[in-house]
Amino acid sequence: MSKRKFKTEVNQLLHLIIHSLYSHPEIFLRELVSNASDALDTLKYLTLTDERYKKIPFDPRIDISFGQQERRVITLSETKKERKVITVSDTGIGMDAEELEKNLGTIARSGTRDFFGSLTGDAKKDSNLIGQFGVGFYSAFMVSESVEVVSKKAGCEEAYRWKSDGKGGYEIDEAVRDGHGTTVTLLLNGQGEEYANRFSLEAIIRKYSNHIPFPIHLSYETEANDGTKTKKTEQVNAASALWRRPKSDLEEKDYTEFYRTISHDDEDPLLYIHTRAEGKIEYSTLFYIPKKAPIDLFWAEYQPGMKLYIKRVFITDDDKELLPRYLRFVRGVIDSEDLPLNVSREMLQKNAVLAKIKSDSVKRILGELKELKEKDRAKYDLFYEEFRRPLKEGAYQDFGNRELLVELLQFKSTKTEGYTSLSEYKERMTEGQKAVYYVTGENEKTLRSSPLLEPFKQKEIEVLIMDDEIDEIVIPALGRYKEIELKAVKRSDTLDDIKSEEDKKKEKSIGPLLSRIADVLKEEVKSVTASAGLGDSPSCIVADEDDPTIGLQQLLKAMGQKTMPEIKPVLKVNPDHPIVKSLEKTEDGEVFSDTCRLLFEQALLVEGVQLPDSSSFVKRLNRALQRSL
Ligand code: ADP
Ligand code: MG
Repeated sequence: MSKRKFKTEVNQLLHLIIHSLYSHPEIFLRELVSNASDALDTLKYLTLTDERYKKIPFDPRIDISFGQQERRVITLSETKKERKVITVSDTGIGMDAEELEKNLGTIARSGTRDFFGSLTGDAKKDSNLIGQFGVGFYSAFMVSESVEVVSKKAGCEEAYRWKSDGKGGYEIDEAVRDGHGTTVTLLLNGQGEEYANRFSLEAIIRKYSNHIPFPIHLSYETEANDGTKTKKTEQVNAASALWRRPKSDLEEKDYTEFYRTISHDDEDPLLYIHTRAEGKIEYSTLFYIPKKAPIDLFWAEYQPGMKLYIKRVFITDDDKELLPRYLRFVRGVIDSEDLPLNVSREMLQKNAVLAKIKSDSVKRILGELKELKEKDRAKYDLFYEEFRRPLKEGAYQDFGNRELLVELLQFKSTKTEGYTSLSEYKERMTEGQKAVYYVTGENEKTLRSSPLLEPFKQKEIEVLIMDDEIDEIVIPALGRYKEIELKAVKRSDTLDDIKSEEDKKKEKSIGPLLSRIADVLKEEVKSVTASAGLGDSPSCIVADEDDPTIGLQQLLKAMGQKTMPEIKPVLKVNPDHPIVKSLEKTEDGEVFSDTCRLLFEQALLVEGVQLPDSSSFVKRLNRALQRSL
């Protein structure tokens, strides 16, 4: 027998699971059954593809039982106590001593550290994360004083026992087991005892594991009137590959149950799409859109949500290429009839059949979303709120489906409450309107009060409000919507679109002033132009025609782009504003240059840009205040 210590992160995790995540302890069974099912999947695959395993008998089943176990409690006067136990046993691949050590003594997956980072403090939400992060086994300690795992690897002679009380370490020693597979025995704690009965176990299995594709048997005792006890074993789950069953056989409930099994999510899905393709290539797909974005949606190391089966044999759930990256929030199953079972990972990437399934699937998912948008806008809005950013990534990256993706996009607007789409904007365009106008920035509220929107408000032209960072990149890349140009309000030439003759006259009249201002600000701005209709703002900044906007420059910097040429903005001055009118008459050199700088600096502040020299700004501001008092 050898005693070993857990790796630090296992200890941290166990501490957390036992002390913080206990609000949802029943999930321990979901996790143990899911591991048993994985072990059966692995062995099934090997017996079909690997010569060394072909002779190994494969009789897939998961057995769950409960009962009493005598246990020694060591106190001053040694006593014996009856404790309740639950066992979960499978006929899967099993583990040898080394694997017991590696799989149950360390946390192997790279995303695990992220698990700690993503905890919210809400025990109910957090316990949902356990399964998603590949740390499910340890959830057994929520309901157990100690956990024992006896396992025999398929093809090996020896069996081993792993045992731990979850407090710092574990032991591994030799054991006996009839066939290959794994038996997990939980010596229940106070919290766990309530599960050790037929009704609780059956209910939890039905809730979380009904559609595990292997039979789950529950053993229990019944007592006849005369007191004789009989042991009974009963299959409690549906045990079929649900995605291969005809739609007409399935109810909403079946789909949502299966979703819970594969997603480790407690909520129902927002949408499911079940398809069976027959003809040249044959396959079944079942896709789910979750209600809430998975926690790792924006992590580089996200866990893909798709499982690949070939002829009902599980192949992988770790392939990020099964769907395009921007659909990484979709959960589900792809099952192909036309791929060879022992297809390698590299082959999968190049496989034409899989490429076809992928492209059909993307079209189908996007098509369903479009239909949802048309039929149930409120529900679509819920989806959009969670997943608009990946959709925008898609509109940017996926040229082939761009047209469809663009129809799925929605934006806030100066003319509507809630979201509106580009096609709806097009419907509302006024006579003679040249483009779809939009304004980008960080914050909806500041955008709505931006001086740049004033001229559009006066002329009753709608402007789309875009407050997602990614809009700065995506919308210019789209360029047009159905031949209509998409134009940023923050570009110098855009305001020209909507100018009246009168505006132009006013702007011309301050020509000499503009060159005096430009003289003062020649280091800071590219040029100074006039813009009528800025309302009560004296000035604003825009980007020159082909330059990136300030927002985009900041975004690129934040994304780590270091070598960026300094790009100066264009200052726009409002000829109608009293400050500008007085400035025209100012002779005093210091007053003139202070005012010019303040016009520029306040325009930067409105854009949310940090001033390069805030102390001299404050000095200028104070001089101006003093003069006015
Ligand atoms: P995950 O299942 O996401 O990998 P777990 O914490 O649930 O994470 O399990 C850790 C590892 O322990 C599994 O990846 C597997 O290698 C091993 N394991 C757990 N239970 C079994 C089992 N019943 N049979 C074989 N291996 C198992
Ligand atoms: Mg697991």
